[in-house]
This record gives sequence, structure tokens and C-alpha cells, in this order.
Amino acid sequence: MKKIGILTSGGDAPGMNAAIRAVVRKSIYNGLEAYGIYQGYSGLINGNIQQLELGSVGDIIHRGGTMLRSARCDEFKTKEGQQKGIEQLKKFGIDALVVIGGDGSFMGAKALTEQGFPCIGVPATIDNDISGTQFTIGFDTALNTVLNAIDRIRDTASSHERTFIIEVMGRDAGDIALWAGLAGGAETILVPEEKYEMESIVERLRSGQKRGKKHSIIVVAEGVMSATDFAQELKKSIDIESRVSVLGHIQRGGTPTGFDRVLASRLGARAVELLLEGKGGRTVGIEKDHIVDNDILSVLGQPRKFSKDIYDLSQILSI
Ligand code: ADP
Repeated sequence: MKKIGILTSGGDAPGMNAAIRAVVRKSIYNGLEAYGIYQGYSGLINGNIQQLELGSVGDIIHRGGTMLRSARCDEFKTKEGQQKGIEQLKKFGIDALVVIGGDGSFMGAKALTEQGFPCIGVPATIDNDISGTQFTIGFDTALNTVLNAIDRIRDTASSHERTFIIEVMGRDAGDIALWAGLAGGAETILVPEEKYEMESIVERLRSGQKRGKKHSIIVVAEGVMSATDFAQELKKSIDIESRVSVLGHIQRGGTPTGFDRVLASRLGARAVELLLEGKGGRTVGIEKDHIVDNDILSVLGQPRKFSKDIYDLSQILSI
């Protein structure tokens, strides 16, 4: 093996740049050449590929987003699209590929591996919704961004004695809501993995009012419902003044945290090692501070285990 390709695909996440840097530098350290593929699978199909040197990835470790840019590409879901991609890889003499992204991007990596082209998936998504790893690159940064927002909203909520309903990202996975809700001292956390009962939410708000509590924070993962819809639901059951705040895309951006940069560096470097060991069709991850790797087939389509213990704790601590 002489040449490794790298691409970022799907939703971007803070820390992707640190992962790119690790893949490039670890490759060069091992005497390989590294090639950046721009704009995900769409850039692969179009041959938007350039060799990256040590300096090409300088001054990016602290930047959010991805220097290789990301894209969604439906054409790559077809055999023809994948063939076009493989032709480009052959044209550039690239022997193996590191795909940094989420579940969808891993489907592309799986398809290429099945067609004889070794790929390693590096999990990067703010949602923390990939199995085979305790944490995905970008989750910690998004968590801290949301937490920062909750802390600020809490200041105004307490000054005006209001209930705030904060909508955060997470269509299928509630980790951002759960972790930020617990760390931000939210009274109620709504996640897609657990059914909620309006009665007990109202009960909680009433008992808070009784003991003189002047404000409340409710965190809703977007996969449950919109914060606006929830505010309307709540209004039917209790007469309180609530305000809605939808955090939106600010959750995707920003300087990656130290944790995300270290995680990305370790996972990116391990991806190169696996390719050097002649392995493809695997994903890397972290479990109990050990870097692990798994068959991509065992990771894809598997919902990540929900941290019920953290959810239960959040319920206890917000009484
Ligand atoms: P994420 O990687 O963040 O989950 P997406 O689900 O949008 O993001 O997937 C990113 C890209 O991965 C898609 O635009 C497409 O190019 C590729 N992809 C997704 N599903 C498949 C599939 N079944 N086969 C091949 N490529 C796929």
C-alpha cells in the first residue's frame, strides 16, 4: 500500500479537521502518500482529489467544520456511482480510503469495501448515534455548546421567572439532550428513546412552584417534537408562561474541545494502522478509553445503546 485517500461526508462535526490531520500525518510518518478527496462522495465521483502534505493540514486542529468540505451525494448510493468512484481512485493510484462521517457515510465505505476497495470508517457526528463507540467525534463540542446556551438561558429565565423549552439536535438519538440536560440542571429532558408522560412533567413543574421555584428548563430533542409543539401541549395542561428557544445549527459549529481533538487524533491514527495491517471494512471507536475496531457490518443499522442509567439519574436529580 502506497497511497491513502481521506474524505469527510454527511453532516459535519467539530473535530473532523483533527481527524484529517491525524490520518495525513500518520500516513506520511509511515512513508505513505495521503490524498484529500473534497466534497465527500460527490468529489470522489468527480475526481476532486489532491495530494496533502504535512503542511496542508497545519493550523486546522482547532478549527470547526472540515477543510475537505462535506456533501451529500445520492449518486453514490447506486452501483454506477460507486464504480465511477472506484475508477477515480484507480486513476490516482489510491489503494485504500478513510471515511470520516456518520452512519450514511459508512454505508458508502461498506459498498466500496465489498467491491474490493478497503475502507475504514471514523465516526464523526455531533449526535453520538453510532454503535461500536462510546463517543463520536464532535459530540463533546456540541454538548458544551448546548450547555453554554442553557446556562445563558437560565440567567434570563431566572430573572423573568419563566419556563424555557430548549430544542436541541438529535433525531433518533437523545444524547445531546440527555447530557446537556443533566449537566445544565434541566427539570425535564425529552429524548426519542424514552416515552414521556405530560402528567408527570406537569406534576414536576407544580411541585417546583410549590417550593418557590421561579423558573424551569425543559430540554427537548428534535426527534421527540418541536419545542413550539411541546409548548402548545404543555399550555393545555398547566397555566405557565413558557418561552421557546431553538438552538439549531450553532450546535454543529465551533472550536472543537480538547476531548474531541484527542479523540479525533487517536481514531484517525488508528484507521491508518488498520489499513497498514491490511484490514478494511472496519470502523474505529473508543470504549473505556481503549481504541477499538469493529466490523462495519456489525455497526451499521445498529442503534447505539441508550444510557438509561444517565437518564434515570437525571430524573432523580431534577425532583
Ligand atoms: P451521515 O454520514 O452524517 O449519516 P448521510 O446519511 O447523509 O450522512 O450520508 C452521507 C453520504 O453517504 C450520502 O450523501 C451518500 O453519498 C453516502 N451514502 C449514504 N447511504 C449510502 C448507501 N446506502 N450506499 C452508498 N452510499 C451511501
